[in-house]
Amino acid sequence: MVPGFVESFTFGGLPEVLSKARWIWPQYRSQQAGSGVGSLIVTYRIAIIGAGPAGYFAAQALLNQSETPVEVDLIERLPTPWGLVRSGVAPDHPKIKSVAKVFEKVSDDPRFRLLANVELGKDVNLDELQTHYDAVVLSIGADVGRTLGIPGESLRGSLSSAEFVPWYNGHPDYVDVDVPLDVERAVIIGAGNVAMDVARILAVDVEDLAKTDIADHALAALRGSRVKEAIICARRGPEHAAFTASELRDLLDLETTDAVIDADAVVDALSRTEDWPEVPKDVRQNLEAFKTISETPSKGKERRIEIRFFLAPREIKGQDRVEAIVLGINAFIDGAIKDTGASITIPCGLVVSAVGYTTKSLPGVEFVKGAIRNEEGQVLDASGQPIAGLYCVGWAKRGPSGVIGTNKSDASRVMEQLLTDITSREEKMSKDDLKVTLNSRGVGVVELEQWRKINTAEIAAGEPSSRPRIKIVKTDDMLRVAGIHG
Ligand code: NAP
Repeated sequence: MVPGFVESFTFGGLPEVLSKARWIWPQYRSQQAGSGVGSLIVTYRIAIIGAGPAGYFAAQALLNQSETPVEVDLIERLPTPWGLVRSGVAPDHPKIKSVAKVFEKVSDDPRFRLLANVELGKDVNLDELQTHYDAVVLSIGADVGRTLGIPGESLRGSLSSAEFVPWYNGHPDYVDVDVPLDVERAVIIGAGNVAMDVARILAVDVEDLAKTDIADHALAALRGSRVKEAIICARRGPEHAAFTASELRDLLDLETTDAVIDADAVVDALSRTEDWPEVPKDVRQNLEAFKTISETPSKGKERRIEIRFFLAPREIKGQDRVEAIVLGINAFIDGAIKDTGASITIPCGLVVSAVGYTTKSLPGVEFVKGAIRNEEGQVLDASGQPIAGLYCVGWAKRGPSGVIGTNKSDASRVMEQLLTDITSREEKMSKDDLKVTLNSRGVGVVELEQWRKINTAEIAAGEPSSRPRIKIVKTDDMLRVAGIHG
């Protein structure tokens, strides 16, 4: 039998088929009109929660296969989809954002629906979704910033990248974040690509950002910024940094910002890696990029981004706001990174920690180390047993790692398993259409047509100033443009 199809039946056998399936979303296709023989196509309904890259790639994997008939609802809390492509990717990286074209192509499939402005836990809960759909895929990302756990972290001017990044990207929940920019030096903790994004946004020429889709409130604040120096502090050495080499190399292209790295730190890292049996390609490329930067003389540009190594944050100092950060000096001793006991204090008015993220908790779902407890994307319960029909993808599944493209192969593998599971199940789960339930609750659902009104309005607003778009940043304004609220 072709998976997803109930075996050919005669009209006389229909009740038997129906008794096997608790509820079937029937699409009866008469193959041999008049002969009384046909096929009952079972269409499986799948809900994906979270319209970020992992959610879209999961939808794409489901819709690209032709063995199992599916319909996909992509459910999103905000009125706008695209997740981190809209609220995470740095505005000066428009090429990365071009993946949105892939998402819009997925959306064009008639078997796909966007149900945005629908919040899990408020407008609908997980138990209900599990009765509306044959499978539910949690693609809820990881948007809670990990904290440093050091004194002074709650002072004004101490922020997490989980606040700063969505602030400059116009996420409606972060429009009002207090970002004091009346300071000359910012320190960024962490040696990953997010730290690099944060440093660039703080220390590049604001007029370069004015050509991007950066949120208008952030652009206005950055126009008044006094920040001249962004110091990225890594707690380990250059060979352990999580940046990607292309991000490092791009630093040398900044017109008005010098990139600075201590040459000795790079020489030491190169000599340490000589003992390694094999230096992984990404480490080798990073070390080459670090070396190039360290050998490029500073040109006395207006601003600078410096990367320092072996510095671990100990305390943020200040009365009412950040005045300095104390960092312990680490060293490579006997093959391990150790705290030397010594420290340095860097005067600064802004500290941004970019040390990773965890997933927001969800009632009824178990978490391990900040991600959903799962085995290859199948969600596990408290006793480690798989929960039928519940899956996860993206950062919610594997933690905050990988670039956007990583989600494609990852989601595809999980969706393959999902399809195998649902087609081998005795009973079909899905009952009535979620939209009917949402409508009865007065939820103003933003579907594709309404989202495209928002999208079109934003792009049109950007045209006069040759910007890709001007983002609408308040939920009410989005819903008004979408035609949901008057
Ligand atoms: P990340 O790559 O995991 O980097 C986190 C950094 O924080 C690491 O250097 C880590 O150091 C450091 N760290 C963790 N805890 C710390 C602590 N308590 N004190 C000091 N340092 C600490 O995370 P991310 O930068 O948030 O990026 C997340 C993912 O998004 C990554 O896969 C990244 O590549 C991706 N991303 C990609 C792009 C792009 O392609 N342009 C842009 C942004 C993000 P240790 O190694 O010592 O733990």
